[in-house]
Amino acid sequence: METSGLIRELERRFPPDRLLQRPAQTAPYESDALTAFRARPAAVMLAETQEEVIQVVRLCHRYAVPFVARGSGTSLSGGSLPVEDGIVIALNRLNRILRLDPAQRIAVVEPGVINLDVSRAAASYGLYYAPDPSSQLICTIGGNVAFNSGGAHCLKYGMTANHVLGLKAVLPDGEVVQLGGESLESVGPDLTGFFVGSEGLFGVALEITLRLLPKPERYRTVLAAYASLAGAGDAVAQVVASGLLPGAMEIMDALAIEAAEAAVHAGYPRDAAALLIVELEGERVQVEAEFAHLLRVIEGSEAKLSPSPKMTPTGRASGRGARAPFRRWDGLARIIWCRMALCRAAGSVRRWRPSSA
Ligand SMILES: Cc1cc2nc3c(=O)[nH]c(=O)nc-3n(C[C@H](O)[C@H](O)[C@H](O)COP(=O)(O)OP(=O)(O)OC[C@H]3O[C@@H](n4cnc5c(N)ncnc54)[C@H](O)[C@@H]3O)c2cc1C
Repeated sequence: METSGLIRELERRFPPDRLLQRPAQTAPYESDALTAFRARPAAVMLAETQEEVIQVVRLCHRYAVPFVARGSGTSLSGGSLPVEDGIVIALNRLNRILRLDPAQRIAVVEPGVINLDVSRAAASYGLYYAPDPSSQLICTIGGNVAFNSGGAHCLKYGMTANHVLGLKAVLPDGEVVQLGGESLESVGPDLTGFFVGSEGLFGVALEITLRLLPKPERYRTVLAAYASLAGAGDAVAQVVASGLLPGAMEIMDALAIEAAEAAVHAGYPRDAAALLIVELEGERVQVEAEFAHLLRVIEGSEAKLSPSPKMTPTGRASGRGARAPFRRWDGLARIIWCRMALCRAAGSVRRWRPSSA
């Protein structure tokens, strides 16, 4: 490992404001969202073009210095933790949507594009990008590709791997490859699928072709309270066994309910041990028929009387297409959940309390 030689090469090529070396500059890059682990890189390179990423990877290869690609650093498992004295290649500035083709329903994006920005850009065409990790407001498509990220909608739509049609990547030895294409039908082995979920170990994704879906015409959401977590879990099995395929399904346990109530007063029943949120989406006629079916399934489960109605079909109560529970849940509650997960992982607290927020 010849770090000093590499740094000299990088200094010749990049201005100091894009080659961060001072401890105060590199500190924000020393860990990801799993803050229990830290490592100081020799430098952080803020890339602005694909060509720059390729150059840095090739130099790292030549000098045998390890590098870690970094999107927004929201990995909860140390994925973007630097290697001590290695290089961090920060990709946030590669945040251009290069092409959005509504006829083909694809978007070609750079790796630093924020997940939610793809759906925002596609919205005017009635399209959206389905994989929805809870961090989608901030995490990047490059990070999603590396972690094959998913969210509440994966049951119906699958993970990131099901929505990446192709990608251009630079491999660790500097070779640039094009995997997959612009359609679901590819010839030969599924190398795109092999790359997605490889946690950054196979190379750096430079350009990603994403599949877009038409936005559902109708949403219907049910929120049901349960006396036990097991009861809510059984209800999930009953919903799936009934043949329904909800667009999204989530359970909140008592701690998550407590945290959400303390933070945002979402109106969840505090005496419930668990909440089940089920959302149907699709064409209007189909969703209405499935909604009636879903209500019967939930009524047949152990849904608890809490606080007074047995369940709250919010789609009905709150008007057409209402998505109130998911909107509430999507916000602070998820962040609180992650914070609890982080605290637990760090071993700093055994139980989250509102006063420690
Ligand atoms: C509040 C919160 C909620 C979350 N919810 C979810 C969730 O619902 N579902 C879920 O799956 N995850 C979730 N996560 C985890 C995390 O957000 C995802 O894994 C996300 O995909 C990481 O994206 P990022 O841009 O932050 O990547 P980073 O953390 O920067 O990097 C993650 C990994 O990707 C690699 N990488 C980054 N860019 C590239 C690239 N261009 N090419 C190759 N490798 C690359 C990195 O080296 C690293 O290994 C959550 C995290 C937080 C903090």
